[in-house]
Amino acid sequence: MIRLNNVTRYFDGPGERVIALNDVTMSLSSGEMLVVKGPSGCGKSTLLLTAAGMLRPDKGDVLYQEKNNPYTFPPDKRSKLRAELIGFVFQQFHLIPYLTVKENIIIPSLTTSGDDSDTRARELIGKFGLEARIDHVPGQLSTGEKQRTALARALFNRPKVIMADEPTGNLDDDNAHIVLNHLKGYVEEGGSVLLVTHSAMAAEYATRILNMKDGFLIKA
Ligand code: ADP
Ligand code: MG
Repeated sequence: MIRLNNVTRYFDGPGERVIALNDVTMSLSSGEMLVVKGPSGCGKSTLLLTAAGMLRPDKGDVLYQEKNNPYTFPPDKRSKLRAELIGFVFQQFHLIPYLTVKENIIIPSLTTSGDDSDTRARELIGKFGLEARIDHVPGQLSTGEKQRTALARALFNRPKVIMADEPTGNLDDDNAHIVLNHLKGYVEEGGSVLLVTHSAMAAEYATRILNMKDGFLIKA
């Protein structure tokens, strides 16, 4: 589904270079829930953004479905490739503050054509138990509701892959299990998940676990 071949990514700071990803090779296959675990600062978000086509590697290749390297395409084509393949759940949700829950969930329809947007949004709102919050804006939501809205938005286009950055990082245990169960259900329906986290909880749901340390990916 998604492959990274010898991917290295640096960040040049004042006087010193941080190697956020160090020669990382990995792949995500269909039907997997792959959890990458590691401490803060080890390169997890960098890994996810690079794999998602949002952060260009300094070395190495990212390949979608064995053939397309998103970074060889112009930005508009790259966005389309990404939107068709990947739903992304950001660590800080990135919901649009002045749009309602339903409007936030519909945002991905701007990049693709597909199902009727209203029907699809209502289906997801039902799935995530957000019926009573449909016309609320993010500021009126609990953290768990925000995360479920972000997940519904990521699923809107029926992507083959969900990438999630610390999706339980801001949640209490009950809400964390709700989100992880949704991701597990999505994998059971044929999707793939690439989840990065510092917490041990998500690992219970993984079909495969990799550890990350100082920019290196290590088998668990
Ligand atoms: P994690 O998600 O595991 O906490 P990150 O991928 O965010 O780790 O960061 C890995 C390393 O790269 C850290 O040392 C971090 O400070 C550095 N880094 C990440 N993003 C940037 C950036 N935009 N500019 C400079 N350094 C960065
Ligand atoms: Mg991070």
